[in-house]
Amino acid sequence: TTSTPRLHRIAVIPGDGIGQEVMPEALRALQAAQARFGFQLDLTPIGWASCGHYVKTGEMMPADWKAQLQGMDAILFGAVGWPATVPDHISLWGSLLKFRREFDQYINLRPVRLFEGVPCPLAGRKPGDIDFLVVRENTEGEYTNLGGVMYAGTEREIVVQETVMSRFGADRVLKFAFEQAAARPRKKLDVATKSNGIAISMPWWDGRADAMHKHYPQIAVEKHHIDILTARFVLQPQRFDVVVASNLFGDILSDLGPACTGTIGLAPSANLNPERQFPSLFEPVHGSAPDIFGQNIANPVAMIWSAAMMLQFLGEQAAHDAILKAIEQVLAQGPRTPDLGGQASTTEMGQAIAAAL
Ligand code: ATP
Ligand code: MG
Repeated sequence: TTSTPRLHRIAVIPGDGIGQEVMPEALRALQAAQARFGFQLDLTPIGWASCGHYVKTGEMMPADWKAQLQGMDAILFGAVGWPATVPDHISLWGSLLKFRREFDQYINLRPVRLFEGVPCPLAGRKPGDIDFLVVRENTEGEYTNLGGVMYAGTEREIVVQETVMSRFGADRVLKFAFEQAAARPRKKLDVATKSNGIAISMPWWDGRADAMHKHYPQIAVEKHHIDILTARFVLQPQRFDVVVASNLFGDILSDLGPACTGTIGLAPSANLNPERQFPSLFEPVHGSAPDIFGQNIANPVAMIWSAAMMLQFLGEQAAHDAILKAIEQVLAQGPRTPDLGGQASTTEMGQAIAAAL
């Protein structure tokens, strides 16, 4: 322990729908962690980056959004999107995707873990069988606007869409993944590829993984074609510890992973700029869930776990571990929200986690 308070400046953006219901529970957990571990949070609540703001002002964010967020250590984000009033391409591209791009959050990190007390859709799996990290490249790769349609509307119609990978972009995500693997006890990294079908970019990606491996000889590396890798997520999830993938493959794996562990209401994520030139963003995997908004039944765990990941990134490892323990305890003993088969409200579950802290 140290006598100098560790001060962290956090932008708090609840966003839309259940983002507004789960965010107070994350703040409750952070408050409890703050009291116990002696750091300080300087929280700035932000109402924009929401569809509510768009309806009032005609824009998702103010013109100076970047200046307002630039000095923050992190952004804690609920969910964005309210398709009944604002189309997703406006809400998403006008907020979250701008953050990712402009703040160069090139890592998308998603932990996948099976907890006691949560029914697993995979038969016979026990807590401990599933506990791994998916590291997704977040800024380049298969998701480009390069290409086009030729001879549109004719029998000769042809469509082309390019993949763009750079040595800089691939190396930095691979390096991050090796570092994660090196920091964990199993010393294993699984690499998603498809070098047998995507014959130019994927052999190149494999080559970058091999080159990076030379700097981490203590790590065992296994490459899997994406098709068999998805099968292995379901059939042999215990074999994974850290999995690294390009943008598209990582997108698929980072939904499949959490799906293997029960409800979407548990899965957290981090969009990281590991060099800390810009604030990183922490958010649940789930969206704004208009179908259950207003009933106080959303599961707050994904949001609370995202807040714990934020503390870990800010150097508060002990607080992160304690929040995870509290989540574990409440998932095992209850109270639980309806998506977990319980009858508790969002607030009750959030209070129980804060109390366990
Ligand atoms: P996105 O906003 O990412 O495009 P979406 O709007 O299609 O996703 P979500 O908002 O994540 O989807 O909701 C998908 C389903 O999961 C909905 O039926 C929703 O009620 C349920 N769901 C999402 N989050 C939670 C949660 N925290 N607790 C309980 N159920 C949830
Ligand atoms: Mg949505």
